[in-house]
Amino acid sequence: MSFFDKMKQGASDAAKKAQQTVEITKLKTQISLKEREIEKSYAYIGEAVFHSYRNGDWKMAGKDIEGYCLHITGLRRDISVLEAKIKAVKNEKECSCGKIVPLEVKYCPACGLPFDDDRSFDEV
Ligand SMILES: [Zn+2]
Repeated sequence: MSFFDKMKQGASDAAKKAQQTVEITKLKTQISLKEREIEKSYAYIGEAVFHSYRNGDWKMAGKDIEGYCLHITGLRRDISVLEAKIKAVKNEKECSCGKIVPLEVKYCPACGLPFDDDRSFDEV
């Protein structure tokens, strides 16, 4: 590789890295927005319980609580999708055992589980 090619290569690697950082920052922002919404939902649950308590029976909040819990469950699911996307951007993936490995690895070094490479994060 010529000096010039090496320089070009270095520059495009740097550009790729910068693009990666932008992408990861964007995903992390989305995650913190969703985390904040979860916090808010927890507060609403507390408020709903207290409101019903003041009206004579805290269990009356049941329907509201269920709605908020469903909302939180959805948000948590969104967050794990976003976390998986961050790993994909970093060229990493996570085994179901929790081990984080490079994207090209075929078997988990910790538990030996084979990875299903047909699964693309873009489909999520
Ligand atoms: Zn594993």
